[in-house]
Amino acid sequence: MYFVSTRDRNGRRYTATEAILTGLAPDGGLFVPESIPALDPGFTLSKGYAYAAYTALRPFFEGDEAEDDLLDICTKAFDFPISLRENGGHDTLELFYGPTCAFKDFGARFLAFFLEKALERRGEDVTILVATSGDTGSAVASAFYGRNHINVKVLYPKGRVAERQRRQLTCWDGNVESYEVDGSFDDCQKMVKDAFMDRSLHGLTSANSINLGRLLPQAAYYVFASHLYEAKYSEKPIVIVPSGNVGNSTGAFWAKEMGSPIERVVLAVNANRTIPDYLESGKYEPRKSVATIANAMDVGAPSNMERLFDLFGNYENFKENVSSYSVDDDTIRATIKAVYDEQGYVVCPHTACGEYVRRTFYPDAPTIVVATAHPAKFDSVVEPVIGRTVPVPANLFDMISRKSTFVDIPADYHRLFD
Ligand SMILES: *Cc1c(COP(=O)(O)O)cnc(C)c1O
Repeated sequence: MYFVSTRDRNGRRYTATEAILTGLAPDGGLFVPESIPALDPGFTLSKGYAYAAYTALRPFFEGDEAEDDLLDICTKAFDFPISLRENGGHDTLELFYGPTCAFKDFGARFLAFFLEKALERRGEDVTILVATSGDTGSAVASAFYGRNHINVKVLYPKGRVAERQRRQLTCWDGNVESYEVDGSFDDCQKMVKDAFMDRSLHGLTSANSINLGRLLPQAAYYVFASHLYEAKYSEKPIVIVPSGNVGNSTGAFWAKEMGSPIERVVLAVNANRTIPDYLESGKYEPRKSVATIANAMDVGAPSNMERLFDLFGNYENFKENVSSYSVDDDTIRATIKAVYDEQGYVVCPHTACGEYVRRTFYPDAPTIVVATAHPAKFDSVVEPVIGRTVPVPANLFDMISRKSTFVDIPADYHRLFD
């Protein structure tokens, strides 16, 4: 099994481990499987999620140096629950039971245990730099905390992340250091870029969402959930994915291509309309993002679109395979309230985009909406809408109660290495 760059399909072939260690292809493209492998006949639901994920991922690692470690990596990474909440076939795939209460825990934890093993084999150490405006940084910090051979530096913009998010970014010690940067998120990103460009610095790497090691585990839960759904209802679900950088939905498309029982993949986006506009006009126009209350999806130039263009080849085929709908802030609030009033079920603002798309466009179809985060992470949006407090899960409570430690620095990357 090999991986290639989206920008040079006939160029160099990489093993999975090479692609994951490299991150971005040298020509600036993203790594994709040379061809999407068929589902392993040994795939099974019967031994729990970690084992199911292992069997779902095995074909991607065939012949790879990490092949024999894969089960161990999956067992350590996926040590928390995953749940398909039943609601008469209008089910919800809850991906928020990990340490930071969002689906990003699946990808970040797989990558952390994978890298630890790969670096051990090579006798190397790395430093991971992450600029974050919220969710990603805490998932990465939590996943890499205590991993050998890896140091993490998390950069976030001072005064521009929610208080609970800030607590989750600064509750670490040991191999994870947090930097509160006097600047914007863009300044933080520029510092990371500048550090990568500085040839006097060695052993730097990134753990951002375009890394193949974060994407593959996001295909595994769609293989799992679609089979579980089919076993329950004898029908193939339409899978509705709240989307920003479209990494999560790319995982769903790959699972479908492998042969999982998925009828269609639908992207629910917020007021950032780049993808629905493309579907309407045939012209792809990435743009600046606009701020919404589903802020983890505030993306105007989705980085994984390059993988979807690669998968679907042309506009006609893209349109044939992809549907996408935009949901504005007022509609998000109204949907949180409607779902709560009808079912007593509280959804986060991102998940609400998916719920709205289900109610409006697929009311009678077999569907799975992906719940990307726990509503307690977005208490300031959710609580005023439903008129009560959302209980904080134990893992989140533990994290935000710990001592806060960070270094306050100006927007100059040299200060990360003082
Ligand atoms: C990151 C994130 C998203 C968007 O996922 P993409 O893979 O970027 O499309 C949606 N919801 C939540 C809660 C997130 O953290």
